[in-house]
Amino acid sequence: GGGVEVDEAVHFFSASRHTALEQRLTLEGHLRRAVERGELRLVYQPKVTVAEERVVGFEALLRWTHPDLGAVSPAEFIPVAERSGLILPIGAWALEQACRQIGAWTAAFGHPVKVAVNLSPRQLYQKTLLETVRRCLDQYRVPPGSLELEITETALMSREREVDLLLHAIRALGVDLAIDDFGTGYSSLAYLKRFPVSRLKVDRTFVRDLGRDEDSAAIARSIVNLARGLKLKVVAEGVETATQLDVLRGMACDEYQGFLFSKPLEADDVRALLARAR
Ligand code: C2E
Ligand code: MG
Ligand code: MG
Ligand code: MG
Repeated sequence: GGGVEVDEAVHFFSASRHTALEQRLTLEGHLRRAVERGELRLVYQPKVTVAEERVVGFEALLRWTHPDLGAVSPAEFIPVAERSGLILPIGAWALEQACRQIGAWTAAFGHPVKVAVNLSPRQLYQKTLLETVRRCLDQYRVPPGSLELEITETALMSREREVDLLLHAIRALGVDLAIDDFGTGYSSLAYLKRFPVSRLKVDRTFVRDLGRDEDSAAIARSIVNLARGLKLKVVAEGVETATQLDVLRGMACDEYQGFLFSKPLEADDVRALLARAR
C-alpha cells in the first residue's frame, strides 16, 4: 500500500542529495491524484464586522487529507501546486465547489451568502478564467455580488494589460475583487486606481503585533485609512485576541477574520451557523 511507499521514500530521501526536489516530486505525484480521488475539500472561515461581530461572509480555504500522509497544510501543498501548474485544475475545482456551495446556501436560507475564493496568479494569466467564472455563476445560480475573488498584489505585477482587461470583465459580471495579504507584496499603490477592487485585506503579520508594537499599528492604521480614502472595505486577517480587536475597532476597520471569532468551518458547520443566525 501507499504507506509503505511513503516510508521508503522518506528513507531514500534522507540519503539523497536531492532531498527537497524529490520530496516535492513525491508530493506533486500525490497531489496530482488528489482531485480525482476526492481528497480535497473546502472549509469556510467566517468574516465578521468589527463593530458587532455580525457574519458578513466566508473565505473558502482548501484542505487536503491524503489517506497515508494525513492532513497536508496548504502552506506545504499550495506552493507545490503553484510550481507544477496543478493549481489550475485545483483552483478551478475550488471555484466550482465554492459556487455550488453559495448556490445551495442561498437556496436553503433565502438570502445571498457571500463567499471569497483565493485565486493563484497562474489562474489570472489563464485565458479560460473568465468563462469558468461566468459558467459557475450561471450553473449554480450564484447571485451577483455573492462571489468574491481574492488576489495577491504580486499577481497584479505582471501581464498588467491582460490582467486589467480580465479583472474589469470579471467585475462587469458583478463579482467582487479583494487584494489579499495587503502590504506584503512589493508594489506601487498605482494599481489600486487601475484595478476595480472593492476590498483590502490587511495581512496577518501586521495584525499579530497590534497592542504590542507601535510600528504594526501604524501600518495597519495607514492601510485602513488608505482603504477609507479610496472607498474600499478593509478586512483584518488573523485576529486572535480581544486586544487586537479593540485596536482595530479604534481604527474603524470594517471587518475581520480570525480565530477570535472562528477557525475555518466545515460546510455542515457553516449551515448550522447560518441557521442560528436566522
Ligand atoms: P490566505 O488566503 O491569506 O488565508 C488566510 C490563512 O490564515 C488561512 O490559512 C487561515 O486558516 C489562516 N488564519 C485565519 N485566521 C487565523 C488566525 O486567527 N490565526 C492564524 N495563525 N491563522 C489564521 P490556510 O487555510 O492554511 O491557507 C494558507 C494560504 O493558502 C492562504 O492564505 C492562501 O494563500 C492559500 N490558499 C488556501 N486555499 C486556497 C485556494 O483555494 N486557492 C489558492 N490559490 N490558494 C489557497
Ligand atoms: Mg485569502
Ligand atoms: Mg490572506
Ligand atoms: Mg495572509
